[in-house]
Amino acid sequence: MEETLLNLRASVNAFLSQFEPILLIFYPLLALFISWILHFSFCFLQEHGLRATFLGFLMSLAKLIPGVRKYIENEKQKVVEKLQSGSKSGRDSWQTELPKVRSGREVIEMMEKEKGKDVVWQGRCSGTVYIGGSQSEGHFSLTNEAYSMFSHTNPLHLDVFPSVARFEWEVVAMTSALLGSKETASGGQVCGNMTSGGTESILLAVKSSRDYMKVKKGISKPEMIISESTHSAYDKAAQYFNIKLWRVPVNKEFQADVKGIRRFINGNTILIVGSAPGFPHGIIDPIEELGELASSFGICFHVDLCLGGFVLPFARKLGYPIPPFDFSVEGVTSISADVHKYGLAPKGTSVVLYRNHEIRKHQFVAVTEWSGGLYVSPTIAGSRPGGLIAGAWAAMMSLGQEGYLENTREIMEVSKRIQKGIKDIPELYIVGRPDMTIVAFGSNDINIFEVNDIMSSKGWHLNALQKPSSIHICVTLQHVPIVEDFLRDLRESVKTVKENPGPISGGLAPVYGAAEKMPDRGTVHELLVSYMDGTC
Ligand SMILES: *Cc1c(COP(=O)(O)O)cnc(C)c1O
Repeated sequence: MEETLLNLRASVNAFLSQFEPILLIFYPLLALFISWILHFSFCFLQEHGLRATFLGFLMSLAKLIPGVRKYIENEKQKVVEKLQSGSKSGRDSWQTELPKVRSGREVIEMMEKEKGKDVVWQGRCSGTVYIGGSQSEGHFSLTNEAYSMFSHTNPLHLDVFPSVARFEWEVVAMTSALLGSKETASGGQVCGNMTSGGTESILLAVKSSRDYMKVKKGISKPEMIISESTHSAYDKAAQYFNIKLWRVPVNKEFQADVKGIRRFINGNTILIVGSAPGFPHGIIDPIEELGELASSFGICFHVDLCLGGFVLPFARKLGYPIPPFDFSVEGVTSISADVHKYGLAPKGTSVVLYRNHEIRKHQFVAVTEWSGGLYVSPTIAGSRPGGLIAGAWAAMMSLGQEGYLENTREIMEVSKRIQKGIKDIPELYIVGRPDMTIVAFGSNDINIFEVNDIMSSKGWHLNALQKPSSIHICVTLQHVPIVEDFLRDLRESVKTVKENPGPISGGLAPVYGAAEKMPDRGTVHELLVSYMDGTC
């Protein structure tokens, strides 16, 4: 028996020895392969963190068990249905083919009926509709008239519609004058375009920065660095334009952490971003320090003024302590400012600005070999809505300096009143120190998302936030007359939750709670995509 074993071992050894030369090649290859795996695991770890990587790994293992996968799938479906409840019912009667001819009157009647189904947004939404107050009717009719006068126009055809070309140029010039173009040595160089909204302005600024950095520094594997509080439009930009994105935690004041950002800068970094203020907590990032950082590394620096662009310049004039936030700060290479938020222009309007023409050139697409002719287009859309440009121009011209100043005075005061009211509710705390007109608040005693559900049942539409779990109100002119109603409803909602903690029927608190705690972000991701897929 022993002899056969020995024989067997000898023949196996003989067999293997034939492969020794191959093994000599194989071992270095194996080492290379292992180091490659290690490298990628390390990068993945760095990007997602130890906990998330480990949990993600466990989850993907667990999902290999059919029962578990089915269970997760069912639970996911339940949440998706809960999120979609209401939005999908009654679709049976929806139009799926072109109808027979209908009169204009009939069409308007159908639309009026549908409009009646929308939520009563007057007064009770966070952000959403920024126009309000006694002049709002006049303002709506002016911008609507401007739109209808130019709804057929398209600035793609500059030769046909010089009118809207002038409106766009003037909206851009007026916006850049508000944002420091006149206070800088190179101010005359500041230039930009109108876009369809904050997201398009951001997409363009990121794309231009990427291509500018490619020419200037030869960066071909671009990376950008943002904060946890920076708007999700930068994720969109990173995905669309193939840029590696680093999201860095904020500091104790919920601002961009300059030292943290610095640690992620490397030879491939094209862009860092600061917000003034950030959407979640309404806090201004340390723009001057970020500007210094960007200058010292010779990289681009975008300031997101989507919310602040039409408030901060006026708040400063009113004497509020507003730190520097615009082109007057060295190192700022581009800015986005939403005319369709606090600029009170029709929805679908924003401005992207660059410090100089050298950077903006990278925004344009020029085509020389198309049989359709020589083609050049400045922004993402080809044909563009001249009517919206005219609407924005009309809004800015009619409000003027005094109009924005007065609006800012009102919303800043309401925001201070709301902050004071929230501080007087012992169960609540304000997230950081709000700089402008967005006030985020959470609770250490009660479930803030349950408070949000009770507020929703009272007709309010606030924004749910995470990291930390909180909600915010973005104060607009709509809230000026009803600020005391808001605080009364908030006090009552807090009391209700304190006395009867637990979810209410139809409420979203369990969904937000679960999403916040869910360690496996892959499942939350899938959930969001399923929700969207089923909604539109
Ligand atoms: C609203 C907003 C955006 C995105 O703007 P959209 O107009 O929704 O595309 C980007 N950044 C900040 C800070 C915003 O408030």
